[in-house]
Amino acid sequence: MMNKLNRRFRFLAADLAFATVFALCTVLCVLVYLYQFDAQIRLQSGIHLSIAERNAAYISHDVGLLLQDVEDSLKAVLDANAHKPVRANTLQNALTNIPYLNSISLVDSQGKITVSTTEANIGRILNIDSEPVYPLPSGDLLRIGPTHMGLDLADGVALTDNGKQTPDRGFIPIIHTRLSGDNEKTLIATLDLGYLLRRIVNIPSTTLSARVALLRTDGLRLFDTLPTDAGLLMFERDTIKRWQDGNTHDARELAAIDTRHWIVAHRLHSQLPIGVTWAIDRDTLLNDALPGIQRNNMTILLLMASGMACALFGYLFFRYASRHQRERLARIESHRSLLESSLNACANAIVITKPNGIIEWCNPAFTTLTGFTATEAIGQNPGTLTNSGKQDRAFYAHMWQTILDGRVWHGELINQRKDGSFYDELLTIAPALDSDGVIQHFIATKEDYTQRKTARQELEIAHSHLNAVVENFPGSLIMENLQGIIVLLNQYVFELLGLPGTEEYVLGKPIQPLMAFSSRVAENSQAFLDRVEELRAAARPSYGEEIRFKDGRWIERDFIPISLHENLIGFLYIYRDISQRKRHARELWQLATTDPLTGIPNRRAFFESIEHERARLTRYPGEAAVLMIDIDHFKQINDTQGHAAGDAMLCHIVRQVRKLLRESDMLARLGGEEFAILLPQASREGALGLAERVRKVLEDTPLNYNDVPIHITASVGVTIMTHTDSSTDKTLSRADHALYEAKNKGRNRVEIG
Ligand code: GH3
Ligand code: MG
Ligand code: MG
Repeated sequence: MMNKLNRRFRFLAADLAFATVFALCTVLCVLVYLYQFDAQIRLQSGIHLSIAERNAAYISHDVGLLLQDVEDSLKAVLDANAHKPVRANTLQNALTNIPYLNSISLVDSQGKITVSTTEANIGRILNIDSEPVYPLPSGDLLRIGPTHMGLDLADGVALTDNGKQTPDRGFIPIIHTRLSGDNEKTLIATLDLGYLLRRIVNIPSTTLSARVALLRTDGLRLFDTLPTDAGLLMFERDTIKRWQDGNTHDARELAAIDTRHWIVAHRLHSQLPIGVTWAIDRDTLLNDALPGIQRNNMTILLLMASGMACALFGYLFFRYASRHQRERLARIESHRSLLESSLNACANAIVITKPNGIIEWCNPAFTTLTGFTATEAIGQNPGTLTNSGKQDRAFYAHMWQTILDGRVWHGELINQRKDGSFYDELLTIAPALDSDGVIQHFIATKEDYTQRKTARQELEIAHSHLNAVVENFPGSLIMENLQGIIVLLNQYVFELLGLPGTEEYVLGKPIQPLMAFSSRVAENSQAFLDRVEELRAAARPSYGEEIRFKDGRWIERDFIPISLHENLIGFLYIYRDISQRKRHARELWQLATTDPLTGIPNRRAFFESIEHERARLTRYPGEAAVLMIDIDHFKQINDTQGHAAGDAMLCHIVRQVRKLLRESDMLARLGGEEFAILLPQASREGALGLAERVRKVLEDTPLNYNDVPIHITASVGVTIMTHTDSSTDKTLSRADHALYEAKNKGRNRVEIG
């Protein structure tokens, strides 16, 4: 119970830990997602900063080349006319070579245009000294004027840096002054602003949305491509300061001013007093990149979500698997515990050994049997622990051979207990194989065989006694079980039935053939078989049933259902030859029921017959007649002729009367000179007729005794017996009464009562 609670608590703790870790991971994923998003933005910003810096450098270089080209052209004109005045056609030739200049003009020392490729410029006075001077390596001076609006110097109006976008039409004056020689010469070239703008916006890396501004190193904006705003103005001012501090280039992100973020870069030209700033709206750039970033981040988010889902499913699977595993282990443990309990509860000693025979486990019955506790036994070899020395080496060699072959060994041996006493042991050793068929253990079951052995010997003696009883039993014994198998019989059966062979031939075999043979020997085979079936079905004891065999023998059968612990287990048949007994009985019966003088049934036999007849009449109503005959004055024969004559007369009477009777009629001597006749199924008339014939034949037929005829007469009392007679006494009483009447009425007559 506690274990179960602990286990549940452990799993609850694991669930909580997992939920916490899962929640932390989820938060971490969100943070990673946000960080990643921010990092991507920063990366994009970094990339654009690099691009901005590169663009600034590129534009600065390109515009520088343009200005350098103009400056070189002016220098070439001055070089070519160093010692002669500059003429208009010279300037015109130079202008022809540089198409992006509106005009080239010569200015005298008072600032007045004296020669120009544009006629209208001549005479115009310019204040060029107010512009900052940039000394060139050649010793000449370079000035770059402010942006002018207008066609050329004649009508050009200088623009102040008011922050508005530079117009398409206009020019920037490039002023080159040579100080060497006697006279100072200054050339002014007007750089076409439209060309310059086109040149910049045509640079492939410059997008239309980028703002490019060309600045003079003193901070004057020469031109720009888009209107500026407060943020950029601040940047430009900062840039100028940086240039002046010696920082020639940089790129950075400008925080939101006027709600806009900028990515800006600046580049100071290495040889000219100009620099450029390049600015682009960061939000526009990032907006372009945002879908990609979001796609990337979404991919990362999906990967993280997949990871989390995998972790969740993994954990759930782990939980499921551990529960499954736990249940499986619980089942195994329960099964193991059941097995161990069963083995512990087993009455027989059980020992489990390693393949080398060393004891690993034993049950309490082992301790009971041998006296060795489990602690004493484990680690020992049972062969030495309980060895009695009563078995030889060959015995153990055979045992080991059998079990090492992977077969079960079973045998008896004598072992020795811890206290030194010997005991008989019934030992079974079974090898336990693994799935590869390799022996892992031996399992030995030991049973104390001492008592059983004694009991077996006693049983064998009892069995031999029983066998002797069965064999010496004065009769045939056959026992069948409920399946009709012969489980016991003796040799008398064969003698009784006249069968060849011994009990081994039929013991354990079906009883049917034996019964069939018995029935063939019996006088009425079918009746024999039917009766056996009847007895079996009733399953009640039946004793002394007599069976007549065809050879004339009488056999008595006892049928005894046999029960064991109140359960019917079979039937016992006992057959005895009672022919001799039957014969004796018949002879005794004969003696008991026959008159020894005349040989006819005596009084007892007559009474039994009349009783039998009365019973028959009760079942089958009808009539029977009883005649009582008493010889008249018989005493006189004895007295006159002697007792022997009287006896002879009695025999004579029987002979005469018998002649008148049917087979079914019964003549009996009741005693002395009294006779009775039973006439079954006789009518009153029939009975009276017979009585009269009896009387007459006795009267008419004297006995010739020693050649002397002796005459007799007889009186006859007749009565009719019906089923209404409640007893034979009544019948006989009526016959007696009728006889008395016949005597009374003078003898030698018949009376009916
Ligand atoms: P009645 O019947 O006519 O009255 O006269 P009875 O002489 O026959 O009288 P009762 O029946 O009393 O006598 C029967 C005699 O039969 C008596 C006895 O001497 C004789 N008696 C009985 N049994 C035997 C016997 O077994 N052998 C001989 N020889 N005589 C017998
Ligand atoms: Mg008489
Ligand atoms: Mg008499």
